[in-house]
Amino acid sequence: MSNFSSAIRITNLDDFIPQSQSCIKPVKLDNKPIPTSESSKHTIEFDEQSNTYYEISLAGEKKELEKTSISLSDCLACSGCITSAEEVLVNHQSLDRLLKELKERSSDEVWILTLSSQSRASLASKYGLNMEQVFGKIMTALKNVIGFDYVFDANWARNFTLLEIQDEFLKRKQQQLNAPKNALPNLPLLASSCPGWICYAEKTQDEDIVGLISSTKSPQAVMGSLVKGYFYEKELKPKGVELKNVRHITVMPCFDKKLEASRGEFKTPIDSQETDLVLTTTELDELFQHHNVHLKELEEQPLNSSFIDRDEKTGKLRGIAGGSGGYAESIFRMAAKKLYNVEVGQIEKKQKRNSDFQEFSLKVDGKVVLSFAQAYGFRNIQNIIRKIQHKNPRLRCKYDFVEVMACPSGCNNGGGQIAADPEKMNPRKQLEQVEELYHSVQLDQSMQDVDQAPTSIREGYQHWVQDSVGSQKSQGLLHTTYRNKNQMETPALREEW
Ligand code: SF4
Ligand code: SF4
Repeated sequence: MSNFSSAIRITNLDDFIPQSQSCIKPVKLDNKPIPTSESSKHTIEFDEQSNTYYEISLAGEKKELEKTSISLSDCLACSGCITSAEEVLVNHQSLDRLLKELKERSSDEVWILTLSSQSRASLASKYGLNMEQVFGKIMTALKNVIGFDYVFDANWARNFTLLEIQDEFLKRKQQQLNAPKNALPNLPLLASSCPGWICYAEKTQDEDIVGLISSTKSPQAVMGSLVKGYFYEKELKPKGVELKNVRHITVMPCFDKKLEASRGEFKTPIDSQETDLVLTTTELDELFQHHNVHLKELEEQPLNSSFIDRDEKTGKLRGIAGGSGGYAESIFRMAAKKLYNVEVGQIEKKQKRNSDFQEFSLKVDGKVVLSFAQAYGFRNIQNIIRKIQHKNPRLRCKYDFVEVMACPSGCNNGGGQIAADPEKMNPRKQLEQVEELYHSVQLDQSMQDVDQAPTSIREGYQHWVQDSVGSQKSQGLLHTTYRNKNQMETPALREEW
């Protein structure tokens, strides 16, 4: 732990997880009393029914033991499911490393940063700014003070991710509708943008679950391919920049994105990573403090890059409607229209066990034809997995799509977001404020085809992918593979970028 940036250490202490979580690593217990040391003269008993531990004194007195809870960022400190090599890997992507590389940078290097909208919302909440202001000021800080050459918007890449996952869902649903009764299930399609969930699934689940995960790359991974692929070829190579001198940094709401960026699948032709380093929102804020940047006082730079998601008519920042992580609502609307010719207005969600487990469905002629769920947090993820694997077909999971995210409340509540100052604001209130800011940009509910996408996305398919959504070329650029991994299998470490 000692080499983690102080941001990780601080977040470990103050992270806000509204719902307590069990360790995701399953532990098998037998129900025998466990004798404690001679000196204590107590025994500990586990009651499987109530999932509770009791301390029994010699006199037979029974006392319920308090449950402890852990947060996802605490998990990074344990070698239970994050291996020590992965811990080193996360360590390798620290703020200290970034500061060192920036200090030693040569004039041949080009530095590019991709910023997530959840990070912007978190910083906007901390500094009392709106989403346009915060982005313009961050742009000034990164370009004029810290020395980045380009700043891009991860929301822009979400358009590619959404178009591809919509197409993937449609193909699987159509396959299912035409499949014989005893065919192996290819649904629910499980969302893949959350690396916390992917890390868990690959290490603990078999093909029956891993095979259901969408192959579409996350926005961070799409930006990695774009920056060191298309953008490099089109903009940087003609200026004589060598690929080995391109640095791509992202700012994301969680530490898990550092592991995603290190995946062996996300490499350039010269064996470097498409994303070299991931900072959390808290680490970006620390970077500003390191450079004495007072964000509120800075001028705002215009948001005029082609890789920033803006509404073409109003010029305002744009986003995809729905939750802070996945795409369930957009895919639901698209499938209702394309498969059943139903225009969905307001989506009515039914809360299941808790507010982080919701479902919604579409009925046609009294019959449920589409059934979607959003499962946030590991307790809900485990419930979904149990349902998919249920031996009784009648009780088995009937969902067509599940938006699976590791953090309760989704990415706005990620472990790398800025923690609330308890003297100023209650953490729950702060999360509400971040969510409000996140949803304050112009939200698009209608993008069901590439024809309805912003011009820059259509041009991306034309010039970068050079083919249509779901084509073989888009499979190569915008999709990846997941597989069951041995617990100890970790990405290779590279000292050099
Ligand atoms: S890393 Fe895994 S085993 Fe360790 S505390 Fe976290 S969930 Fe549990
Ligand atoms: S849900 Fe949490 S772990 Fe998953 S991508 Fe979002 S912030 Fe990261």
